[in-house]
Amino acid sequence: MQSQSDQEKFYITTPIFYPNGELHIGHTYTTSICDFFARMARLAGKQTYFLTGADENSLKIQNKADEVGQDVIEYLDLQAKNVILLFEKLDISYDQYIRTTNKERHHTGVIALWNNLVEKGDIYEGFYEGFYCVGCESFKTEKDLVDGLCPDHGTKPDFIKEKNYFFKLTKYAEKVKESLLNNTIKIFPESRKNEALKIIENDLFDISFSRPNKGQANVIPVPGDQTQGIYVWGDALVNYISALGYGGSEGEKQSESLYNMFWNNDLSQSVHVIGKDILKFHAFIWPAMLLAADIPLPKNIIVHGLMQSGGRKMSKTIGNVISPVDMINKIGVEGLRFYFANNIPIFDDGEITEDLIVSNYNGYLSNGLGNLTNRLIKMMISYDVSVNFDSIENTDLYKRLDENLNKTLIDFDINSYTNYLWKELSAIDADIQTKEPFKLFKINPDEARKIVENLLLRFYTIILFIEPILPKTVPTIIKHIQDREMPEKPLFPKVEMEIN
Ligand SMILES: [Zn+2]
Repeated sequence: MQSQSDQEKFYITTPIFYPNGELHIGHTYTTSICDFFARMARLAGKQTYFLTGADENSLKIQNKADEVGQDVIEYLDLQAKNVILLFEKLDISYDQYIRTTNKERHHTGVIALWNNLVEKGDIYEGFYEGFYCVGCESFKTEKDLVDGLCPDHGTKPDFIKEKNYFFKLTKYAEKVKESLLNNTIKIFPESRKNEALKIIENDLFDISFSRPNKGQANVIPVPGDQTQGIYVWGDALVNYISALGYGGSEGEKQSESLYNMFWNNDLSQSVHVIGKDILKFHAFIWPAMLLAADIPLPKNIIVHGLMQSGGRKMSKTIGNVISPVDMINKIGVEGLRFYFANNIPIFDDGEITEDLIVSNYNGYLSNGLGNLTNRLIKMMISYDVSVNFDSIENTDLYKRLDENLNKTLIDFDINSYTNYLWKELSAIDADIQTKEPFKLFKINPDEARKIVENLLLRFYTIILFIEPILPKTVPTIIKHIQDREMPEKPLFPKVEMEIN
C-alpha cells in the first residue's frame, strides 16, 4: 500500500456553469465526461478530486433574477438546487459543487489572488473605451465582431467608457506561450493548442479586470476600492483553486489543504475540461494569472467540441434542441452516458439525435451488453458452472485493460477506451458462437463448463472497466453473477424507434 502522500493524485474540473436556466445537453456532456475520467482515475488507484459548480457572479444573472422578480441570492439557491438534482440523476460523482457567491471559500481565494497580483505590480488603474458583450461577459475589439454584432449572441455589444483596473496580461504572454509549446500545459487536441497560440499572438492587450461596482449582491468588490467589482472572469477562473482552499480563511489551513494535495503538487494530474468557446480564458488568461501569482499551472486542458443535431447547431428556432431530461426518460441515464462515451468524438464536434441515441442504445446495450449478460448467467446457472474471481488481477486480459485504462488517463481518448471494451465483449459473443458450449454440454459437460467459466472470467474482467461509464449497471451485473441469479427484468429494455 502506498502512503497517502505519495499516492498519485488526479484533479478534474468542469467549467463552472452559468445558472441562468436549465442545464442543456452540452453541460450534461461536459459533466459526464469529467465523471468518466474521475471514476477511471479512482479505478486506477489514484486519489481523485472532482470539482464542478456554478459561475454566479455576473450581471447577466442579476438581470435574469430581476426578470423573474426574485432576489438574486434566492434565485441562485434555487438554480443550484435544480442543477444538483440533475447531477444526482446523472450519477455525477463530484466531490464539491463550488458556488462563486460562497464568501468563506471562493471570495477569500479571489481576493488573495487579486492582492497577490497587486503586490507583483501587475494590476494598474486605466481607462477602458470599447465594446462589451454582456452575453459573453467579455470585452470585444472591432475584429471580434461580425457586422458590428457579437458572433456568439447576434447582439450589438455595449459601447462602454469607464475606469477599470487592468491586469498586465501582455507581460506573461511569452511565458504562457512557452508553457503551451513545451507541454507544461498540455492541450488536447493538438489543433486547439495551435489555436490557443494564435489567440495569444492576436489578442495581445492587457485586460480589464474590473467593472464599475453597482452594488449587486453577486459581485466581489475590488480590495481597497469598493467602487469597482472584480471582472467576472478574473473571479470565476479562481474557482479551480479557491475550491481547494487557496487563500482560504482560518478554518482551512493551507498546509493540509486540498490545494497542496491536488494543485500545488507535482504528483497531481490536474485536468480542466472545457468547451472550445472558452479556450482563450483557460489557455491564456488563467495561466497568465497563475504565472503572475507564482502558482503552479494546470497540467492538462481538454477542449471538447460542440454538439449538433441533424448537422446543425441546436436552437429553439430550428426545433432541434435535445433535452437531457427527455433522453434520460427514454433510454435511462446510462443510455445517455454510453452515447457520450461511445458516439460523441471527444475532441471534435459531435452529432446527437434521438434516432441515433435510440439505435445505439438498442445495439450496444440492449442487444449487446444486456443480452450477453443474460446468456452467460443463464449458462452459469443451468450448467452449474462455478467461477473463482479472486485472482482476476493476474490475468493477461486484466493487465491489458488496466494498461488501456492508464493510457486513457494520459491521452483522454474516451472513445477508444469504450471501443476497446466493447470489442472485447464482442469477442466473447463470437466465442459463444464458435465454441458452442450449449451443444458441447450434451457430449462433454466438463469441457463445456470450462469454456463457460473462461467466458465468465473474461466478461467479469471487462465489466470492471466498464464501471466508470455505467456505474449503476455494472454493480447490478456483478451482484447477479455472485448471487447466481438471472436479472428479473432486462437490464436495458429495448426502446422502439419512433417512425416519423
Ligand atoms: Zn456575446
